[in-house]
Amino acid sequence: MATVPKWSKIPPDAKWDKKVRKLADEYNDLASKLQKKDDAKLSRKMDETVFKIEEGFRNEKNTKARRDFAFLIQLIEERHKGGVFPADILHMQEQTLGGGSDTALEFKQMGQTEPPSQTQQQFNIETIDLAQVPMINVEKITPDDLEKVTQKCAFGDGEILDEHGRTDGQIWRCKSCGTVYHENCLRVCLLTKGSCLICDAEYLQQQK
Ligand SMILES: [Zn+2]
Ligand SMILES: [Zn+2]
Repeated sequence: MATVPKWSKIPPDAKWDKKVRKLADEYNDLASKLQKKDDAKLSRKMDETVFKIEEGFRNEKNTKARRDFAFLIQLIEERHKGGVFPADILHMQEQTLGGGSDTALEFKQMGQTEPPSQTQQQFNIETIDLAQVPMINVEKITPDDLEKVTQKCAFGDGEILDEHGRTDGQIWRCKSCGTVYHENCLRVCLLTKGSCLICDAEYLQQQK
């Protein structure tokens, strides 16, 4: 009947206090056994383990170990649909963890694998070497070549020059219509369109 296991294993933290760690291991061991077989004797043992965790938490004087207990209790409670610990224990647990901003941080360290960083896997557009791209109808210019210092990029992402008259990277200009591009904006233009955003002049030399 019960298809969803009542008990789920939790990820103990290697940095936890030794006695907390030991109880966590005990809990995990029983949880995995109970997942395979809902046995009355094992269930009783689990009740004992849960009680040991409760008592351990109640009597713990050391601040660090108290926090470790509180985390253990939180992890078990989160994974157990029916609720495991009495209300007063849960209240103490919340008090101990204090809902402080570092709670989430500590949870991250706890056995949960983080998804691979997006930025590291993303293709970095800046690696395109414009000097290696056969281009026509577009030329590299200097800030002095701009019609006015406030000239804007074809992408509408702002002026080419910053408030100090400097620019990040090269400046490119369409030979056909005179519109200008930030270096990276030209890269985007080449990748997405291959021709001028404004006048459609071809920028990429046709390969034979
Ligand atoms: Zn731009
Ligand atoms: Zn153009």
